[in-house]
Amino acid sequence: MKKTTLQLKSLTLLFFLTTIFSFAQQIEKCATDKLMEIERQKNPAMFDHNRAELEAFTRNYKLNNVSSKSSMMVTEIPTVIHVIHNGEAEGTYPNMSTVQLTSAIANLNAAFQNTGVYAGSTFYNSPMNVEFVLAKVKEDGTVTTGIERHNVAGKSYASEYDNNGISAGGVGVDSVVLFNDYFWNPQDYMNVWIVKKIDGVDIGTGNSGILGYATLPGTNPGVRDGLVCQARAFGYNPTYSSSNPGATPGYDFGSSLFPSSGNGTADHEVGHYLNLQHTFNGDNNGTVCPPVSGTVGADDDGCADIAPHKRTNSICPGDSATGNDCTGGSNENIHNFMDYSSDPCFTGFSNDQRTRVHAAVDGPRVAFKTSIAANAPSGNYPAAVANTPVKTVAGSFLGGVFEVSINGNTFKSLSEYNDGFYLNRVASQPTITLVENTVTNITVIAGLAGTNDELVDVYIDYNNDGAFATSERVHQSQPASAIAGAAVAISFTTPMVGGFVNNQKLRMRVISDFDNHGSTIANAYSTQIGNIEDYSVIFNPTLSVTDNEIEVGAISIYPNPANSVLNIKNASNKEITTLTIFDALGRSVYTNSGTNKVSVENLGDGVYFLKLDFENNNSVTKRFIKK
Ligand SMILES: [Zn+2]
Repeated sequence: MKKTTLQLKSLTLLFFLTTIFSFAQQIEKCATDKLMEIERQKNPAMFDHNRAELEAFTRNYKLNNVSSKSSMMVTEIPTVIHVIHNGEAEGTYPNMSTVQLTSAIANLNAAFQNTGVYAGSTFYNSPMNVEFVLAKVKEDGTVTTGIERHNVAGKSYASEYDNNGISAGGVGVDSVVLFNDYFWNPQDYMNVWIVKKIDGVDIGTGNSGILGYATLPGTNPGVRDGLVCQARAFGYNPTYSSSNPGATPGYDFGSSLFPSSGNGTADHEVGHYLNLQHTFNGDNNGTVCPPVSGTVGADDDGCADIAPHKRTNSICPGDSATGNDCTGGSNENIHNFMDYSSDPCFTGFSNDQRTRVHAAVDGPRVAFKTSIAANAPSGNYPAAVANTPVKTVAGSFLGGVFEVSINGNTFKSLSEYNDGFYLNRVASQPTITLVENTVTNITVIAGLAGTNDELVDVYIDYNNDGAFATSERVHQSQPASAIAGAAVAISFTTPMVGGFVNNQKLRMRVISDFDNHGSTIANAYSTQIGNIEDYSVIFNPTLSVTDNEIEVGAISIYPNPANSVLNIKNASNKEITTLTIFDALGRSVYTNSGTNKVSVENLGDGVYFLKLDFENNNSVTKRFIKK
């Protein structure tokens, strides 16, 4: 009798172990949590500080119902897809076809906006005000399709990449090494890396493996900020069928073993990128039920409208009335993109997830709201700088430029810890219009309150020669003058005509660096604990004007500068039909039907452009100053 019991126990234990083992093999498909923990271990205090701050912001955002206020606005997310390959022909794994890559973008929009195949879903159907758009301009101002194919042949890691792909803790090329070569500034672009293998596994050969991972905001992403997808798990090829099996199908998030027309891996990883946790977050690797939480930010997924469950409860199909192993209720979690479920079951995101995503694009990823990286290149971009910026102290810090305000425009970013030490924004943020021989004010916020004090220097490459001369330094801060997180008010006078290149975008460089109370910032090309951000400024831009039928000089405006009323003298023989005022960033701030005067009383001081539309599609644009 005893013996039999023991045997039974052994069998039970064996079955139990087999079950756990097979789950462990099957469910480790997203490496986000694992990599976050690795980053956390490097500096737990800084990691926890950043995450706690973001959770507090998110909680407050939900309490104040900010999401509903900003719900009218759609945030465009300019996306660059870096396809990393070893020279395979386009369309051959892992150098996936354009049709497959763009199918992922279309699906991301359907998933996040709850449209297309996801419209009208029963369980999770909260539409988000985000739109994924392929970038049209590179960091340097040259054109891109938003799909960048990179052949690593010739790189020191080429054969390691060919054999094992990228490492997510296992074998393969270190992602920091790889992405250093293929990385666009993470404030203005969402970087997506399409890789051959992760930890040496090609899921297409029937092996289970990691399909992707992403960086949540505030998790020391640096040059890794973005998402990684296994080449077969990003989008699908709509031309795939049993009669055309050569076309690559998509690979299901739940099981890499069968073709899918879904895009679950990318939908899931972008969710992480926009600050969503797994629906089973806090289950201690499937061993306990996560805490029930009514507030955003508790030790679960931060979403009160998703019932706590274990990751072992994520089998698709398999929902039933008592399917949830924590609550005994329905396990509708399998329909949520942030579960470890499968493409056929995924339908969408919850309302609380929507709030978290909106908080992310109004918080740590707010630069997308002003990014113009999805616009085609326009005008002449600043000359490239011969000296590539370098960082002279190892490690990543909470220092750096956080905010630059000039002529009524504000550009936001995060610390070096998040963004890396150099952001090139000359083409991805709007160009700032400057006026010659004019006192110009810039406000810079550098450093994070309570951390290192940061000095701030500003240069403008007036002669556009790709170097920053001392004479081009418009502001230099003095040692011991800085207070971390406090606004630095900068005032300088722009040169007279002749002291700059006219009608040409020029590089403005904002540098913040550790105030060691002994010396000024060493130069314009390196930082220790801080970062460098580049912007475009322009004097006297020529806007696109189609005045073929309006004789030169026929239109004048006065007085200029104007204080209350701007008068328009129209000596042409055409009627003005519409009048529009644009600010220096090209945003329309006022429009009216044809008139010969306009009130400017309500405009803030600064540079504006008055665009007059005439009959027969003619138009004239005039610059004026409100004082
Ligand atoms: Zn995940």
